[in-house]
Amino acid sequence: MSNISLAERVQTSPAICMTAGCNNTADMEPDQDQGFCEACGGKTIVSALVLAGLI
Ligand SMILES: [Zn+2]
Repeated sequence: MSNISLAERVQTSPAICMTAGCNNTADMEPDQDQGFCEACGGKTIVSALVLAGLI
């Protein structure tokens, strides 16, 4: 167990706020399922990687 290997596995990815008219972008971890948007205050940040996988 080392912090280096953990850091390499948990990488941030581009994420987008799904609130209409917000369009805020942020970085989030791939396994994070509730993203907090600093712009509109909602838990509406969705990973772009997740969107790509679902659509
Ligand atoms: Zn937002």
